[in-house]
Amino acid sequence: STAAPKKLTIGLIPGDGIGKEVIPAGQQVLQALPSKYGLTFDFMNLKAGFEEFKNTGVALPDETVQTLKTKCDGALFGAVSSPTHKVKGYSSPIVALRKKMGLYANVRPVKWVQGQGIPVDMVIVRENTEDLYIKEERIFNRNGEKVAEAIKRISEKASWKIGKIALEIALRRQKVREQTSDSIHKSASLTVVHKSNVLSVSDGLFRETISNLYKQDLAKYGSVEYKEQIVDSMVYKMFREPQIFDVVVAPNLYGDILSDGAAALVGSLGLVASANVGDNFVIGEPTHGSAPDIQGKGIANPIATIRSTAMMLEFMGYPEPAAQIMAAVDANLKENKITTPDLGGKSSTTDVVEDVLRRL
Ligand code: ATP
Ligand code: MG
Repeated sequence: STAAPKKLTIGLIPGDGIGKEVIPAGQQVLQALPSKYGLTFDFMNLKAGFEEFKNTGVALPDETVQTLKTKCDGALFGAVSSPTHKVKGYSSPIVALRKKMGLYANVRPVKWVQGQGIPVDMVIVRENTEDLYIKEERIFNRNGEKVAEAIKRISEKASWKIGKIALEIALRRQKVREQTSDSIHKSASLTVVHKSNVLSVSDGLFRETISNLYKQDLAKYGSVEYKEQIVDSMVYKMFREPQIFDVVVAPNLYGDILSDGAAALVGSLGLVASANVGDNFVIGEPTHGSAPDIQGKGIANPIATIRSTAMMLEFMGYPEPAAQIMAAVDANLKENKITTPDLGGKSSTTDVVEDVLRRL
């Protein structure tokens, strides 16, 4: 006898530009998963983005948020254009979505292709709700001079939550490694990034909270090596010897900067995936933007989105199909034949998707 397959409802938010060209790749990959996993999928197309804002005056419709909250098990987000100058009434819908859905962690793996370039296999876990991003800024007059200030807020609770999810990710990666031996790491480690030599109170709280969390549950986390790194030397080391880092956890701003820096280690933005994770929901999101320069040409690299789709499944509690998708992508990259122009190839988005589907 066979159990009835489980049906998962996935929200699709293509957004702007190449978001519309790459999100279908995520959908196709899910539809092509082997039946042995017992999963079937329903998809709901949802609106958000700068184009939506220009058409309706609203960048993130309530309906999108409500549908995600009440009908979806997970979601994929493409990209939104960010106007370079301030547009009245517009603010980034993905930033708003992270807040409204309680997605406190941004998880970004950066992985090399075996045999090509610099060996790197790390995951940056960025706190996503506070630090300088609370946007409490003001400008004032001091003795006739203009002065601006911004508040950096770090809470014990948010630091604890991000530390915990980072440690869980380190344990999970260790487990996957034991099964596949496909890694440059022999054992798991967590690196806490901070600047508490200068910001001893705020970054100090971040560092101490995670250090305490680790020490209080050594029975669980003891197999993960605990390390700390001051952010400036972190940047230096990440470019000199990225292979020493496994899971890296950082407050919002340092995490933002480190994430883009790490993406540069593996060549194209079109390869780098991410997941926005909360306690009850996950949104997979390629890290690239709407790429207006290649929009409509059919050459956007779909791999960042395909990997984000695998991450979505992983955080929804389905690590096996996630690993199979990742392996199909790795095989495509390792062969290095059917690739889009950002990787020096001549293939189209569709060609790459078809190659990955064939390998699945
Ligand atoms: P946005 O304002 O939406 O962030 P942007 O102009 O900053 O747009 P990005 O999307 O951030 O553009 O991309 C930066 C560069 O990387 C562009 O040259 C773009 O073509 C390239 N790029 C980004 N994503 C991909 C992709 N999936 N495939 C190929 N090239 C990409
Ligand atoms: Mg950009």
